[in-house]
Amino acid sequence: MAFEGLGGRLQDIMDRIKGKGKVTEQDIKEMMREVRLALLEADVNFKVVRQFIKDVSERANGADVMKSLTPGQQVIKIVQEELTSLMGGENSKINMSQKPPTVIMMVGLQGAGKTTTAGKLALLLRKSYNKKPMLIAGDIYRPAAIDQLETIGKQLDIPVYSMGDKERVETIVENGLKYARENHLDTVIIDTAGRLHIDEDLMNELKNVKEIAKPNEIMLVVDSMTGQDAVNVAESFNNLLDITGVTLTKLDGDTRGGAALSIRSVTEKPIKFIGVSEKMDGLEAFHPERMASRILG
Ligand code: GDP
Repeated sequence: MAFEGLGGRLQDIMDRIKGKGKVTEQDIKEMMREVRLALLEADVNFKVVRQFIKDVSERANGADVMKSLTPGQQVIKIVQEELTSLMGGENSKINMSQKPPTVIMMVGLQGAGKTTTAGKLALLLRKSYNKKPMLIAGDIYRPAAIDQLETIGKQLDIPVYSMGDKERVETIVENGLKYARENHLDTVIIDTAGRLHIDEDLMNELKNVKEIAKPNEIMLVVDSMTGQDAVNVAESFNNLLDITGVTLTKLDGDTRGGAALSIRSVTEKPIKFIGVSEKMDGLEAFHPERMASRILG
């Protein structure tokens, strides 16, 4: 899909203003219309867009833009700044426990990239944080999820604690944590079950795991390609589990990444990482200002 960046979208309006030599309130209104379309095209949730436009319009109607010789640039700058600050301003780190092990619980819908991200995160923690991670195979419902995690573990040389798919997940998690403590593994990443849709059984199970594991981080994994749905998913998981962070996967695809903005403003929880490839080194820290540029194009 071909997107037109905000700069291109504002060009006609800017040319017209140059001809007249001054900016009117009407010009700003038209510019805001283009900003609105750019955000909607980037798949930002419409409610989020509405609030955003309201806030930005107030700033844009201020003297700065009206007096500016380059009103278009000025509007882009304001939009960029506001987007960045809405997405948290700076990049946020993993919540580490004072006393090892740090426990990270991965949650999300099936296919979002939970298992893959668990592996990626383990690798990143070992490489960049000098940690000794371990993975717990707690996704006992999806056929092959356990094998998938074990394969990832072998590939990365990171231990995977598994008890197959016959035990209760609560038991697996309890035993896994005990194993980590006994073996001085300081970071435990729990892969949990996902479903195609959010349902009560899943949420109850995840709540139980949370209760037992007392995670320092509940990392929601969301597929950035799911656009508007991503917001509902994030809202539900956050309401039920009080997540602490989000990883947005598949940003190597052709999505603009508007989900980042929507999720952040709906849940008020930071996006911490982005998935940028299927490979194990394809996980990066989330940078709000870069995402703002991407959304605007
Ligand atoms: P789960 O059901 O949530 O555990 O999802 P998986 O970890 O099995 O991932 C589902 C699919 O998405 C797999 O084919 C992954 O390779 C792929 N995937 C996960 N993250 C990314 C990413 O950041 N980029 C790309 N291109 N593919 C990803």
